[in-house]
Amino acid sequence: MAFVITQPCIGTKDSACVDVCPVECIYEGDDQFFIHPDECIDCGACVPACPVSAIFPEEDVPADQQAFIAKNRTYFGL
Ligand code: SF4
Repeated sequence: MAFVITQPCIGTKDSACVDVCPVECIYEGDDQFFIHPDECIDCGACVPACPVSAIFPEEDVPADQQAFIAKNRTYFGL
């Protein structure tokens, strides 16, 4: 399990999550930030840091945001 960044990040890209992640597993893409699913230690620190509530544990990603699970993985070639 890993945390996943979803739709609200697009057009926001606040980067507060990057600053709080203890293992530096959040990377900047063209349109949003992405969490490396194998590097994330599931600490949850990024969730309250996000001003647009874009980050969810993988099992809690809303139904209409499920595509972002694959999008985060694809960004890293996984
Ligand atoms: Fe980083 Fe923790 Fe968020 Fe994973 S859950 S991306 S380790 S801050």
